[in-house]
Amino acid sequence: MITFKNVYKEYPNGVQALMDINIEIPRGDFVFFVGPSGAGKSTMIKLLIREEKTTRGNIFIDDKDITKLMDFQVPKLRRKVAVVFQDYRLLPKKTVWENVAYALEITGESRRVIRQRVPYVLDLVGLQDKDKSYPSELSGGEGQRLSIARAMVSNPSVLLCDEPTGNLDSETAMTVMEALKRVNEEGATILMASHARDIVNRMKKRVVTLEKGRIISDVQGGSYYEVHKADSE
Ligand code: ADP
Repeated sequence: MITFKNVYKEYPNGVQALMDINIEIPRGDFVFFVGPSGAGKSTMIKLLIREEKTTRGNIFIDDKDITKLMDFQVPKLRRKVAVVFQDYRLLPKKTVWENVAYALEITGESRRVIRQRVPYVLDLVGLQDKDKSYPSELSGGEGQRLSIARAMVSNPSVLLCDEPTGNLDSETAMTVMEALKRVNEEGATILMASHARDIVNRMKKRVVTLEKGRIISDVQGGSYYEVHKADSE
């Protein structure tokens, strides 16, 4: 369970990015964060991985208040809460297999666990036949699925995705969404910031709409279009 309780974020330049955010996200949920550019979606993600600190309020992950973590405890948080970015951040000189294995090597995982876990997550995202390819040989959708595999290999309970389909056409984007759906079915909670109206509508998941730093709507099985249509009427 993730809980934001009266969360405010003001950046040093005085921008109020989030104001009085209150939300509960049960374990295993799949939630879209939508809203115009500058609404505060990325800031919510940055607070959850402690890339930024809250100005006021509390954020709980499984009853632990992450706003109270000391800096040295943050790496442990990041093993539980993984993140996928729009620009993938892959290692160009490593193969698909090595990119995923590396995420485990740096945490000191044994060869035995690496040999079990890497094929499992590559299969989960549909890249089992690309294990020897290099990132430059992958399509955009494959590159993004690789970044999801890499984020999932250490078995985090939460996966945050900031516009993961931002650079992809809508058919390719759906292959990425299929991968995320499988990751979600394996038990991970997924929070995804997105501008992609068609994807949000097709997935029929929970949709939280932000505007100017506030949550203005939160609907199950929601659709991007209807929320905004309702707003303008
Ligand atoms: P979104 O992801 O919905 O586009 P953001 O969370 O990136 O929105 O931004 C929310 C607001 O905070 C915007 O007004 C943005 O300009 C501002 N902002 C984001 N990051 C910073 C930063 N590091 N310093 C100052 N202002 C920021």
